[in-house]
Amino acid sequence: MSTTSPLAVTVLGATGSIGTSTLDVIARHPARYRVHALSANRARRRLLAQCRTHRPRLAVLEREEDAAWLREQLTEAGLDTEVRAGAEALIEIGEASEVDVVMAAIVGAAGLLPTLAAVRAGKRVLLANKEALVMSGGLFMEAVTCSGATLLPIDSEHNAIYQCLPTEHRGGLAQHGVTQLLLTASGGPFRGWKAARLAEVTPEQACAHPNWSMGRKISVDSATLMNKGLELIEACWLFDARPDQIQVVVHPQSVIHSMAAYNDGSVIAQLGNPDMRTPIAHGLAWPDRIESGVQALDLFEVARLDFEPPDETAFPCLRLAREAIAAGGTAPAVLNAANEMAVEAFLEGRLGFAGIGELVARVRDACPVESANDLGGILEADERARREARMRLECR
Ligand code: NAD
Ligand code: MG
Repeated sequence: MSTTSPLAVTVLGATGSIGTSTLDVIARHPARYRVHALSANRARRRLLAQCRTHRPRLAVLEREEDAAWLREQLTEAGLDTEVRAGAEALIEIGEASEVDVVMAAIVGAAGLLPTLAAVRAGKRVLLANKEALVMSGGLFMEAVTCSGATLLPIDSEHNAIYQCLPTEHRGGLAQHGVTQLLLTASGGPFRGWKAARLAEVTPEQACAHPNWSMGRKISVDSATLMNKGLELIEACWLFDARPDQIQVVVHPQSVIHSMAAYNDGSVIAQLGNPDMRTPIAHGLAWPDRIESGVQALDLFEVARLDFEPPDETAFPCLRLAREAIAAGGTAPAVLNAANEMAVEAFLEGRLGFAGIGELVARVRDACPVESANDLGGILEADERARREARMRLECR
């Protein structure tokens, strides 16, 4: 590896929690990786700091006014990073011929088109942006097969399962003797709480995760268990699994990141400290291993591992996700869009915590399930679900 030139990496969503951890790992291995491009939505100051440190060829922001500001700052600093704005530029930095690896770390549906473009261009795609796969499942996986892209899951659970499965696991789990995937969940900050107490929770409480430090949207998803629902759908697509082959196991310590059970009685688990730099380093270097900066796991400090079933009565979002994958077609895209709208409203104080699941269910009931064979249909379903959600939020 050290004799070849470093791999060129684009980080979509560089200023977020996953983006920052990715740059931390990359910076530890300058002979293996160089940063080709970085993107952010509005966080121009953070992106400027990252440009100073990582010297990318390109930087992309959503708005032209932020891009103009960044251009000026970079010129002043004597850096020659080219700055672009808008959705088209995001797609270009993922599919450009000089790019080897794309970290898809934009949050939500906004990441779908650039992630899919990177997949279609046959890149090594490190998938953190689970919403993109939830929305477009079949189409996304077909694009991986057609283009020969290497798709590596970064979501810690899926990365764990990937590590617990045989290297070539395509063609159905049963063929490899896998009987079940055990998807672990921390249970979030409100584990054990009942509906009455949950009605009162604030965005600050919801974003204070006991084990992981993450962006606000996924923090709320972890608190409602919608994150586990999205991950269930994600696992079905990534590992060609049926929903009934996946068991959600609440494991409050977040040390086992997930498991695969085999027909001979073996259960293989992947363990580690809850730090996203482990799956990121795994995705970057696979099939090699590289140092990630994560502290070694001290089992005596962990001392015990607990397991319990999820409470789908107090946390209905997991059930809603299960129903969406069973319904198929555009149902997961509708679920995702309604959830994004609900979480945004919750974070802005316009919707209570229990209102998130309620809104998702209402929007689901208002949106017919269509086939999800083409991108146009998926984007239309996303748009329709957002309209339905907006209407219901405004009528309250
Ligand atoms: P975050 O909110 O910290 O960062 C999101 C990044 O995306 C930022 O760089 C932001 O500028 C950019 N962004 C946001 N909206 C955008 C838009 N409309 N257009 C372009 N860019 C936009 O989020 P995060 O916690 O880093 O999560 C990123 C993704 O990774 C999510 O899909 C999340 O579910 C997944 N993920 C995160 C973690 C974690 O530990 N944080 C773990 C597993 C999976
Ligand atoms: Mg996860």
